[in-house]
Amino acid sequence: MGKVIGIDLGTTNSCAAVIENDEPVIIPNNVGGRTTPSIVAFTKFGEILVGDPAKRQLATNPTRTFTSIKRQMGSTWSVNVDGKKYNPQMISAFILMQLKKDAEAFTGGPVKDAVITVPAYFTDAQRQATKDAGKIAGLNVLRIINEPTSAALSYGLNHGESTKVMVYDLGGGTFEVSVIEIEDGVISVLATSGDNHLGGDDFDDRIASYIVSEFKASNQVDLSKDPIAFNRVKEAAEAAKKELSTSETTNINLPFVTVKKGEPLHLDINLSRSKFDALTSDLVERTAGPVRAALADAGISPSALSRVLLVGGSTRIPAVQKKVRELTGREPSKNINPDECVAMGAAIMGSTLGGNAIIAKDAGKSLLLLDVTPMSLSIETIGGLSTVLIERNTTIPTRVSKVFTTSGPYASSVEIHVLQGERPMSRDNKTIGRFMLRGIRRAPAGVPQIEVTFDIDANGILKVSARDLDTGRQQSVTINADDRMTDAEIEQAMRDAQMNMGVDMVKRETADVANECRNLTMRVDRALSADRRNTSREEKKRIKDDRNALEKVMRSIRPENANESDLARLKEAKAVLENSAADLLARTGM
Ligand code: AMP
Repeated sequence: MGKVIGIDLGTTNSCAAVIENDEPVIIPNNVGGRTTPSIVAFTKFGEILVGDPAKRQLATNPTRTFTSIKRQMGSTWSVNVDGKKYNPQMISAFILMQLKKDAEAFTGGPVKDAVITVPAYFTDAQRQATKDAGKIAGLNVLRIINEPTSAALSYGLNHGESTKVMVYDLGGGTFEVSVIEIEDGVISVLATSGDNHLGGDDFDDRIASYIVSEFKASNQVDLSKDPIAFNRVKEAAEAAKKELSTSETTNINLPFVTVKKGEPLHLDINLSRSKFDALTSDLVERTAGPVRAALADAGISPSALSRVLLVGGSTRIPAVQKKVRELTGREPSKNINPDECVAMGAAIMGSTLGGNAIIAKDAGKSLLLLDVTPMSLSIETIGGLSTVLIERNTTIPTRVSKVFTTSGPYASSVEIHVLQGERPMSRDNKTIGRFMLRGIRRAPAGVPQIEVTFDIDANGILKVSARDLDTGRQQSVTINADDRMTDAEIEQAMRDAQMNMGVDMVKRETADVANECRNLTMRVDRALSADRRNTSREEKKRIKDDRNALEKVMRSIRPENANESDLARLKEAKAVLENSAADLLARTGM
């Protein structure tokens, strides 16, 4: 196998690395940069630009320039350019092709194999789309790995004693925090959290708005109304922000920024770090919630962390580093470039997979990487319940089987409805797949045994299969790119789950009690027909009346809409029947 490259295919910037002389090195791009803007442009002359050249012409060609395509991965988004339809995979492939070309120029030979990183919360559809982008770009994607895992690899953290590490990743447009555990060379992601719409761009916007308002106050001209001028302001804002990471003040100087009544106007504003911090303090504060959530999900306190790694260019902002220190009580590790460590880790992983194993050689054993599922995976069961097979934040690869039965009598088929989400009722979760298992031997409800298996491979791709243990018939689906849960949906689902926790508990309990009631009425019916002689007429009438009353209540309640009073009515009717049928059930052993 030739050289394997590690690729951090980022929302704002991408980066590639390769192992040279047992060390990961960053592959410079065709203009000498160490990271490449994840921007693709189609010029009016039919040329396709990638990276810095695409970024430079963004203001003059906005409708044919595509940024942050990573946000669309795995979605149905598409765009028509000059009569040709492009999906997110195809746009991303242009970025990957450029990185491949740069890698070939750097290594002096053909490059085919790659390891590509994705955020830990990426769904299987998003991972699959990333893999497809690699394929379109002519790459053989050996592995899709999680960004925090990759960052840990770049720090060589896969050796030695068991440790828990936080990876705090604030990039251009996204924030992700993960808690990972490293034990015996195995890296597992314990929990992830974040904010998909928080990053360096928001910091730039704050400076840009400040510049616009200062300029308006002194010149009575609104620069945000002039696209070319505003683009210059935004570029200057980003440059000022970067400067303020190392200097206490900066000067923003844009000569001839606009024209007023035929006279050119110049912009010249000083910005101090303390003013910048004041303009952006709420953005920095917004990272606190996800940090706490990830720690809580991982079930640890900050003192259990042995290291905190900073990833993403925006972690260079001093106020961000201060916040991390405050939240974790640790001095974050930053000896590896935060925009480069993810690509470096991917290169290390690639070299291991490629057999040139610098890690395997050191550790004396092969490296196993484990990631987590971002949302619980379940199937729909009787009463519209979502019965979880794989819990949220379960380490993958994983395989879980559970045996279910049929709810309807003499069914010859069952539908397996696969869901993703944290809500107890299936209709509140996201359908990610459905299939029928046919050819079940007809039998009364509750008799057939259907084994359902969820299998998630190392790339996070889910395969669901169902098998009738009696006939051996089997059916399966691989959850494909059309059945996705987008990151926005994941965020929304998490918020909904939190907000509806109380209501959901009532619904879940109602569904459970309704199931118990169904069992109870079936047992009572069987007992009544088995014990005809010993049951007095009065007892029989009372039981039948109570049974029918319970059935009436059951019919009047839908668990998915149930409230507390429905649940109370159901419990009461059940208790009445349990009481009147107690002797009968005991006598018959039902
Ligand atoms: P990434 O997506 O990790 O490449 O991060 C890109 C973001 O990091 C952009 O918003 C950059 O403006 C920001 N960034 C890069 N360098 C610095 C720096 N020195 N100080 C502050 N932000 C930076």
